[in-house]
Amino acid sequence: MRFDILTIFPDLLVSPLREGIIRRAIDDGKVEIATHNIRDFAQGRHAVTDDRPFGGGEGMVMKPEPIAAALAHVEHEAPGGLVVLLTPQGRAFDQAMAERFAGLAHLVLVCGRYEGVDERVRAHLVHEEVSIGDYILTGGELAALVLVDAVTRLLPGVLGHPDSAPRDTFSWGGLKYPQYTRPRVFNNEAVPEVLLNGDHAAIAEWRLVAAVRQTMERRPELLGRIRFLPTEERILKKHGLGAALGRAAAPGGD
Ligand code: SAM
Repeated sequence: MRFDILTIFPDLLVSPLREGIIRRAIDDGKVEIATHNIRDFAQGRHAVTDDRPFGGGEGMVMKPEPIAAALAHVEHEAPGGLVVLLTPQGRAFDQAMAERFAGLAHLVLVCGRYEGVDERVRAHLVHEEVSIGDYILTGGELAALVLVDAVTRLLPGVLGHPDSAPRDTFSWGGLKYPQYTRPRVFNNEAVPEVLLNGDHAAIAEWRLVAAVRQTMERRPELLGRIRFLPTEERILKKHGLGAALGRAAAPGGD
């Protein structure tokens, strides 16, 4: 998969892409990530990428022409990418969107700065607008990195264990079960006995029940979207968690 990231601060992206799983994915050729400095596509001696807003008001607005030229360059280099503008006004990024993006061959991410980008960028140059949450960042670079990270780890062969992503929080619908490692006792709290006995069926049952409990306590609204298998329903009822099924079956979800 290929990512192109358009930004006026490409150096911000360097270190996060040089570490851990993302770096390995790049080294293994599973992803290619190209960054483009929007300033390189600006006209004139001063390569201006922003200007004052028409109508007055605070801050600066990113001009449309350098972004258009940078996008044309990417389209020439690698045609057909889905162009995504990072903006707090976009659709909320979630695991389902990450999975959809992971099925694409090419994403082009446009990072805004200052007061954001000229409205005509949004209207004419991008296919989708994505927000990473209801708060305001100083720029789209961290949001672009969030997308790159969440999408890359879903690509085939990127994670060490191919079955780990589908069991993650959100991927199966709810939160992941609690996990423990050595030592067996920490702060007077012991690891649940069932996880130590090697009985895989009992461990799977404990994990299902713990994951559903965790979801009911912390994110009950997620339960409405989960479809449990009949075997799982039996286990949940046995553990007095029929209420979780009630919510799952509730018309319209939560
Ligand atoms: N003035 C804009 C508004 O009120 O909607 C906010 C501009 S923000 C300071 C500058 C840039 O940061 C945006 O153009 C966008 O690229 C990025 N950004 C800020 N918050 C974001 C978020 N929650 N999700 C995605 N991108 C965000």
